[in-house]
Amino acid sequence: MIVVVFWFIGMFIFFFILYNVIQHALNTSEMAKDLSEIKQLLREQAASRPTPPPPAPRDFEDIREAYDRCPGCGHAVQAHHPVCPECGLSLT
Ligand SMILES: [Zn+2]
Repeated sequence: MIVVVFWFIGMFIFFFILYNVIQHALNTSEMAKDLSEIKQLLREQAASRPTPPPPAPRDFEDIREAYDRCPGCGHAVQAHHPVCPECGLSLT
């Protein structure tokens, strides 16, 4: 019975040591170094990248220009016209 207890303790110690050896190997491996370098590079890139300018507000003149021209024939129309006086296209 005591042998089983010792066997369990021995296995526990063995796996604990094995776990630590593997963990240490992973932490000091080339891959881990590369990964930390990549992370560092990405962090520097993100820090140095300028924030994009906010989207320019839509030019009011552009909207009026688009509205005041008939989309069908390009004829100048007034904003309150329901149809184009030139080609009869509905503007609503
Ligand atoms: Zn028209």
